[in-house]
Amino acid sequence: MLAVQGDFAEHIAILKQLGVDTVEVRLPGDLDGVDALVMPGGESTTFSYLMDLYNLREPIVEAASGGTPIWGTCAGMIMMARELTEKFPEPLGLMDIGVARNAFGRQVDSFETDLRFSPLGDDSYRAIFIRAPGIVRLGDDVQVLAQLSDGRPVAVRQGSLFATSFHPELGDDPRIHQYFLTFAAQGTN
Ligand code: GLN
Repeated sequence: MLAVQGDFAEHIAILKQLGVDTVEVRLPGDLDGVDALVMPGGESTTFSYLMDLYNLREPIVEAASGGTPIWGTCAGMIMMARELTEKFPEPLGLMDIGVARNAFGRQVDSFETDLRFSPLGDDSYRAIFIRAPGIVRLGDDVQVLAQLSDGRPVAVRQGSLFATSFHPELGDDPRIHQYFLTFAAQGTN
């Protein structure tokens, strides 16, 4: 669990509820022996600054290229991106997506909506968006798992990499954490 800033405690609470041991990652050595990494919601400019300060960038990029499953929610998704529409912050470039920060406008910058997250079948999922990032480019290998009613993608996967614009760590529905754990346990494909 990346724990430099943001709502990592909320992710940890759900993971614990699902019986998972978590490690708070603040320094490169904390990544040793980690089977999967979650990057939480928070503030991507702060993530980027602290990742540089603690030399976390390179080991996370290495873990991703070695096949470690990584999930980014909201600011975490911003860090997963290959490129952003703005110059700052500098993302990690793990996933073949382009992302725009605060893509849902000021008036509606926070909202909740029912979505269909395809791995859960037809059951709907209540998703919480807070100053959420939008996906503006999808690479060929990127699979869309959830979209808003206007078609905008909000959950994507590329092999062992997973990103959601919204915050499954807020609220008490553990199904998306369960989904991540299941594919993380199966290994990459
Ligand atoms: N808007 C924030 C950013 O740019 C992300 C918000 C969030 O994680 N809830 O980093």
